[in-house]
Amino acid sequence: MAEFKCYICNSTVKTGEKFTFTKKGSVHYDCYVSSKRQQIGPEKTEEFRTLASLLDYSLQGLLNAMSIQTEKEEAAEAKRQSIQAYEKLAGDLTKKIEEL
Ligand SMILES: [Zn+2]
Repeated sequence: MAEFKCYICNSTVKTGEKFTFTKKGSVHYDCYVSSKRQQIGPEKTEEFRTLASLLDYSLQGLLNAMSIQTEKEEAAEAKRQSIQAYEKLAGDLTKKIEEL
């Protein structure tokens, strides 16, 4: 995995850690959510909580898919497609959180 640095805590994102991308770069899920929570108005708290949970699940799904070992070509293709789908979902959810 390529090395990414979290723009909030400045540490390197390690394999197995949940992270996402915003316009500012790569960021840990936990760092992102706790900093964003402080910027959200009370009227958007519930929406934020829902989107943050969905992002959490999609990033966990992504990590789970990445950790699967397979040497069969068709299964590897399914794994690749699953990773892509989770990445897209995580990207879309992050975008929605950014727009809150
Ligand atoms: Zn961080």
